[in-house]
Amino acid sequence: MTWINRLNAMGPAFSVAVMPTPVPNPSWVSRNQQLGQNLGLPHQWLEDQEGLAVFSGNGLWEGMQPLASVYSGHQFGQWAGQLGDGRALCLGEYESPQGRVEIQLKGAGKTPFSRMGDGRAVLRSSIREYLCSEAMAGLGIPTTRALCLTSSPHPVLREELETASIVTRTAPSFIRFGHFEHFANEAAPSGPTHLKQLADFVIQHHFSDEPFLQSNPYAELLQRVTVRTAKLIAQWQSVGFCHGVMNTDNMSILGVTLDYGPFQFLDGFNPQHICNHSDHMGRYAYERQPQVAYWNLFCLAQALMPLIEDQDLAVKALETYKTVFSESWHSIFLSKLGLQVQEDPALAQEDKTLLNDGLQLLANEQVDFSIFWRKLSHAASTTEASGLPWQSVADLFIDQQAWLSWRDRYLSRLQSSNSNLAVGKMLSVNPKYVLRNHLAEAAIQKSKQGDHTEVETLFKLLQSPYDEQMHLDHYANLPPDWAAKIEISCSS
Ligand code: AMP
Ligand code: MG
Repeated sequence: MTWINRLNAMGPAFSVAVMPTPVPNPSWVSRNQQLGQNLGLPHQWLEDQEGLAVFSGNGLWEGMQPLASVYSGHQFGQWAGQLGDGRALCLGEYESPQGRVEIQLKGAGKTPFSRMGDGRAVLRSSIREYLCSEAMAGLGIPTTRALCLTSSPHPVLREELETASIVTRTAPSFIRFGHFEHFANEAAPSGPTHLKQLADFVIQHHFSDEPFLQSNPYAELLQRVTVRTAKLIAQWQSVGFCHGVMNTDNMSILGVTLDYGPFQFLDGFNPQHICNHSDHMGRYAYERQPQVAYWNLFCLAQALMPLIEDQDLAVKALETYKTVFSESWHSIFLSKLGLQVQEDPALAQEDKTLLNDGLQLLANEQVDFSIFWRKLSHAASTTEASGLPWQSVADLFIDQQAWLSWRDRYLSRLQSSNSNLAVGKMLSVNPKYVLRNHLAEAAIQKSKQGDHTEVETLFKLLQSPYDEQMHLDHYANLPPDWAAKIEISCSS
């Protein structure tokens, strides 16, 4: 394996060489053999003691040059100054069958950017990241991936004493909006030079799939990041995913979901739902995510301004967010209904109203988001409204009158649309299984006792969230009462 590290080659302004800090008695919690295979990694890496040593921070393969990168960012709407990889380490990059890929350890000890932190991650939060990144990949939503999860009895103090765990993540790049903000904030003459170097690097290495057409490549970069981000957030909304900490340092320049912390998939549909217990103002509530992403892109635009130079171009690039988000959102949500985007403006408007009224109905009663869409997918393929599938959707509502009146509008729309194809696809856009908090929690509790079977079960289940997997039906049930009491904060 030939290890490269392009960030390292860019010079000392971008990263610092750091060795992982070893942990005692590491062991495997889970391994993503399929991902390892797709990425062309030797099989034994996820099996033998040498692999275990590397993926727990106790060893390196020859040629690896671990480093931590520096970034800054806005946290909860405020400029937070310098942050950086405080507990993440890039082990190196290599050429995989799917292109260059970076391997990163999260929780492998202190770095010069750890500030007051211990550089560690606890088992609880590492299991959540490991499972959720696989769940997102299963859902078809762009995300960093997780290759494996190791743990150690090494004690880590959070609100209570916990134990250390390390997630090995992969992505083409972990560069964040905050990397750009960092160099935009650095004084001249080095700041502007580094900013340009970073932007050129990202354009050359990560946006080379399509040639840049605009005469201003930095405005075009902003536009492309904007488009990717808009599409990503539309996908999040469509499965009820709340990120929880959409600070600019957690926003990927590639438009992939990054840094899983206090995330949550909605149970009942409450658009104002706040999943992060530390988010007292509800800045990152479910319904605010689209606006927050736009706000974050604005920060990126400001950081890129010295390179773009032309304010109108920057505004134009940012403006694409509104159309792309809105179009993506509508098209995904219509597909959740088994409908297609209509060319005719009157019909399109009718469908929008039908959709919004449906969502309002769900919100009024906080109907379970995933269960509603899944049951609707089964019902929509039969026009026999008195049959069991429709009854089973009706059972989710208290206000039967309101439900029946919406259902009739929807049924007549389905009949007139004649879109059997779109209806047939509903089961592949409305997942049966999502990583609800209580499912993750149950796996965490077992793993804390040394039993990782539940992590493994969820891991496999969530790889195919659209498949019926009848024998695991109960994982698609309503959450138990205790689920509402789970409090997930930034502490991880
Ligand atoms: P997060 O809220 O997880 O996105 O983290 C924000 C910043 O704090 C990043 O720079 C992290 O690297 C850093 N950080 C979070 N937790 C720790 C920790 N336990 N030790 C060191 N740095 C941390
Ligand atoms: Mg982060």
